[in-house]
Amino acid sequence: MENSYFGKYGGCFVPELLMPPLIEVEAAMRDILPSQDFQNELGELLANYAGRPTPLTFCPNLSKELGFSLWLKREDLLHTGAHKMNNCLGQALLAKKMGKTALIAETGAGQHGVATAAAAARLGLKCTVFMGAEDVERQAMNVMRMRVFGAEVHAVETGTRTLKDAINEALRAWIANQETTHYCFGTAAGPHPFPRLVAELQSVVGKEARAQILEQTGKLPDAVVACVGGGSNAIGIFRGFMDDSEVRLLGVEAAGTGESGCFNSAALNLGTPGVLHGNRTLLLQTPEGQIEPSHSVAAGLDYPGVGPEHAWLKDTGRAWYGMVRDGRALAAFERLSQSEGILPALESSHALAWVFDHPQELPQDGCVVVSLSGRGDKDMDIVRRHLGEKYSIPGQAED
Ligand SMILES: *Cc1c(COP(=O)(O)O)cnc(C)c1O
Repeated sequence: MENSYFGKYGGCFVPELLMPPLIEVEAAMRDILPSQDFQNELGELLANYAGRPTPLTFCPNLSKELGFSLWLKREDLLHTGAHKMNNCLGQALLAKKMGKTALIAETGAGQHGVATAAAAARLGLKCTVFMGAEDVERQAMNVMRMRVFGAEVHAVETGTRTLKDAINEALRAWIANQETTHYCFGTAAGPHPFPRLVAELQSVVGKEARAQILEQTGKLPDAVVACVGGGSNAIGIFRGFMDDSEVRLLGVEAAGTGESGCFNSAALNLGTPGVLHGNRTLLLQTPEGQIEPSHSVAAGLDYPGVGPEHAWLKDTGRAWYGMVRDGRALAAFERLSQSEGILPALESSHALAWVFDHPQELPQDGCVVVSLSGRGDKDMDIVRRHLGEKYSIPGQAED
């Protein structure tokens, strides 16, 4: 395998039985993905099924308050409500060209499961989604969506019954079904070649954003900001500006409640190097290497690791990563909604919160582009629990 590392991060730390399907994906990435036929077919799906290009929206009211111009790359308007569809359509189409008839996927909050189930339905592939049993209970609506799209949802009872256990189970199922099945991995992490494949499929976000900001303002932005869970929306938008050294790349991790001793999801800021899910990266772990449970009010950021390319970009200094607490993300959710009439996902609200809370770190009269990775409709139940009383709707403390 070539190019499986990003500095000292990445690699392919998997059981030997997983090597054949990973090598097959690597070959498809090299031989099928760049071909004109594949790119035309994917481009058609992204445009006419998923709704690309997504707009780049100027925020007039917030820009006046903040003192620099704020632009949003609107992945919330993509089909199924987040950037995840870019990756799912690309991998589903690749699987079909590889002669596979089925997809498996892992999901935490359910967003990647929903996008995979939709892409599988569209492309005529069978779909099985592995989801921690705890998440199946917490995310009943997304389980329903997946089943309506025709997917089978498999509740995983091992470990903490959450995302990391679902990934382990999906990798096991892939070993058993590799002849017929492609594993549609949900973020820019996991064993090689997934970090590169997912980044490549999400790079459409950054390429569009760069062309759109040049067209609308005539200049490159001073900073590009995105939330980081596994890191796919961030790497997707960063890819568009990687070679523009004057553009600052800022990633934002979830600091959880921010109380000392409480769990968070900030592997880049608070983690140490280790191996999880087939790659070497920064992880939230004990000194003995046991994975710590993660926590964020934004379910999509709730992962104890991070994609290896981000760990490397942090080391090289090309990107910088901050942290935002649950409460600040909720405040940013309200502020964007009330100032601009756009309801952001709680994940994306972390990126917005960093910008709202650090205006002094951004150039006055400058230009900032934020990746609005998804829409907030899916989060209304969580928002009600935290802020319900304020809007005269009974809330209740989070379980
Ligand atoms: C899943 C998700 C994320 C986090 O995933 P990344 O791979 O880090 O992008 C962020 N925002 C939304 C809306 C999501 O659904």
